[in-house]
Amino acid sequence: MTQETGGFAAFNLNPNILAAVAATGYEEPSAIQHQSIPIIMAGHDMIGQAQTGTGKTAAFALPILHRIDPAKREPQALILAPTRELALQVATAFETYAKQMPGVTVVAVYGGAPMGPQLKAIRNGAQIVVATPGRLCDHLRRDEKVLATVNHLVLDEADEMLKLGFMDDLEVIFKSLPATRQTVLFSATLPQSIRAIAERHLRDPQHVKIQTKTQTVTAIEQAHLLVHADQKTSAVLSLLEVEDFDALIMFVRTKQATLDLASALEAKGYKAAALNGDIAQNQRERVIDSLKDGRLDIVVATDVAARGLDVPRITHVFNVDMPYDPESYVHRIGRTGRAGREGRALLLVTPRERRMLQVIERVTGQKVAEVRLPDAQAVLDARIKKLTNSLTPLVADAESTHGDLLDRLIADIGCSPRALAAALLRKATNGQALTLAAIERERPLVPNSAPRERSERSGDRPDRGDRERRAPVPLAEGRARCRTALGARDGIAAKNLLGAILNEGGLAREAIGRIQVRDSFSLVELPEVGLESLLAKLKDTRVAGKQLKLRRYRED
Ligand code: AMP
Repeated sequence: MTQETGGFAAFNLNPNILAAVAATGYEEPSAIQHQSIPIIMAGHDMIGQAQTGTGKTAAFALPILHRIDPAKREPQALILAPTRELALQVATAFETYAKQMPGVTVVAVYGGAPMGPQLKAIRNGAQIVVATPGRLCDHLRRDEKVLATVNHLVLDEADEMLKLGFMDDLEVIFKSLPATRQTVLFSATLPQSIRAIAERHLRDPQHVKIQTKTQTVTAIEQAHLLVHADQKTSAVLSLLEVEDFDALIMFVRTKQATLDLASALEAKGYKAAALNGDIAQNQRERVIDSLKDGRLDIVVATDVAARGLDVPRITHVFNVDMPYDPESYVHRIGRTGRAGREGRALLLVTPRERRMLQVIERVTGQKVAEVRLPDAQAVLDARIKKLTNSLTPLVADAESTHGDLLDRLIADIGCSPRALAAALLRKATNGQALTLAAIERERPLVPNSAPRERSERSGDRPDRGDRERRAPVPLAEGRARCRTALGARDGIAAKNLLGAILNEGGLAREAIGRIQVRDSFSLVELPEVGLESLLAKLKDTRVAGKQLKLRRYRED
């Protein structure tokens, strides 16, 4: 087991930090948090081997916030991140955890944005500076004393920083910091170059690593689906249409997520309930009993609440949120495939979590195959199959019980048997979409589910891409639609595009319209006026390490 503490309270963090953590809905520290927080709180240098998805940001943010002095209006902690996207994400996390610490401010320092306001925020006394190395060096060239008061340094994703060629910048930054500072280094991998940095710049560091001993997973068919965080609920609903499950457990990270997802499922007619640490023990037992005897089919749980849950009916596990470590992945999916039965486990992976997927594959020694969301044809086939299965047992004797009534209705209404059967079907299926066209109309666009290639089965049906082109969202007046070949599969989210265009294009937020991220491309609405010069300005812009190459998009 990886989570054996009695929650975050055991760390003795500043109560204001604990209150902010409680407000996020986290129930238990993740493995990396469990190990790192006490070490960083105690002021030690540390090397943490962990990747995105393990909860590593909070693992350093919480103890660093605990150690700073809010009364001192000067930079006290510096977090270095390889990219602007990560710097923004880390800065936002710090803001969340510092919400109840009056006087604590955070500044994000990265390229592409004007330097003046960043320097001003530092000089105005932001205690937490989250920066990319390149831009921070630009600031140091202007004012070499700017970091003189920093006594905590965190290198986040250190291996990525080196890959991006920030070695020299890091050396400049190390020199500008007090030698007495605390240094914490997080890295997914520890190649020789990282070890060398640690040797030169860390003092007697403690090592923290999530144990990744090989785990065996048998009798469980595993698959993953690439999806953006905000599309998870609709992805889950689509998957449920085609998965042939008996009982199912879904894992999410927060209490709130258990409630939100369970109510979305209930609204669609599933017998679902939430299971989280806030729910009283006797109520939890009732939920589990209901799952056992079929009054419930789906339970949406946090890891903590699902401890010890053993229900042989469970045929499927959906990992809606990524587990923190491979061990808890194996533990979660072990809920299915009980008593030698076959089970199926599905893992939703956001673009940034792909690396965690690789770790899981390595540790379990198994490939977790990629699946795509079912297309309309698959949903139709599944719905018809369910209908067939529900009618087949009735056909045997319904004629003897209802045959005479049928004859009478045909006579009374004066219609053909086919017309009457169709009317009864319409009534029995309660408005459910049962044609391809109707299913396509009801399905929300789940962009990154677009098949990469048209499937053979789709024949001459238009694929999703065609449909989108045929029915584009109307453009607001004065806006032009632009396209980039970067999409979800490049690890792009709408906020990355927004950040890049705002920073490098010098636009106001209101000037940018809808941003749609698809699997292999993205669309952005920009002002028509001045479009050409804006595109020229963005010519060399890079997002997630790749050239943006934004072009006007013509819908014909
Ligand atoms: P990270 O690995 O830092 O990128 O974090 C991954 C995600 O996990 C973020 O969305 C965090 O908000 C979330 N998270 C971090 N710690 C916890 C926790 N103890 N419980 C639930 N969610 C968490």
